[in-house]
Amino acid sequence: MTESPRKMLIDVQDNITLAAKRAQRAINDINLIAVSKTRNSDAILSLLEQGHRSFGENRVQEAIEKWPALRSQYDDIELHYIGQLQSNKAAEAVAIFDVIHSLDRISLLKALAKEMKQAQRYIPCFLQVNIGDEEQKGGCALQDIATLLEAAVHANIPIIGLMCIPPADREVAPFFALMAKLAKDHKLTKLSMGMSSDYEIAVTLGATHVRVGTALFGMRAQKDK
Ligand SMILES: *Cc1c(COP(=O)(O)O)cnc(C)c1O
Repeated sequence: MTESPRKMLIDVQDNITLAAKRAQRAINDINLIAVSKTRNSDAILSLLEQGHRSFGENRVQEAIEKWPALRSQYDDIELHYIGQLQSNKAAEAVAIFDVIHSLDRISLLKALAKEMKQAQRYIPCFLQVNIGDEEQKGGCALQDIATLLEAAVHANIPIIGLMCIPPADREVAPFFALMAKLAKDHKLTKLSMGMSSDYEIAVTLGATHVRVGTALFGMRAQKDK
């Protein structure tokens, strides 16, 4: 597979546009996050050169190593944190990221609240939901959503929506549909869902943020999923 990065970006954008049209949604409501975990700066630069500005990383340390240099060349980059976050990394995460997608428990909420206050930088967060109720997956239980949202209000953390990673090897549509219902029930307008294999379905079912890696950059080295 030797598709050029330019073609891959255009293809993904076209697919999003088509899915949005099918669902009669406004294309401006859908944000493509290029998941650049494990990718080097050259690969990232090729997307930046095409005008893409929204990226996602899943390791704080890796982001600290890669992004300051890229940001010195492009001042309008939007960096999303999509990995599981340890509370002891909250300060660094608040400093380098613009959006956090993986807030999923009270202890992390407290750590983020403290660091946001300290930095006077209240960055938007998604509440991650363990939509398939899987044993060792990140995300809060469905029945904890309301409690976490209320705690976030008290802690001054802006929660803009819900995020999920549905179970592997299962049909995703019912999970995405349930996410849309949960967001609506809680009066949240943003939905972070959909990856390379299912972003079009996610758009059809209401995703506002799709997180796409492989379809934009090619396959990742095996072990770093
Ligand atoms: C790696 C990752 C993605 C992107 O996965 P692809 O299948 O490469 O598109 C999306 N979301 C999260 C949370 C990830 O860790």
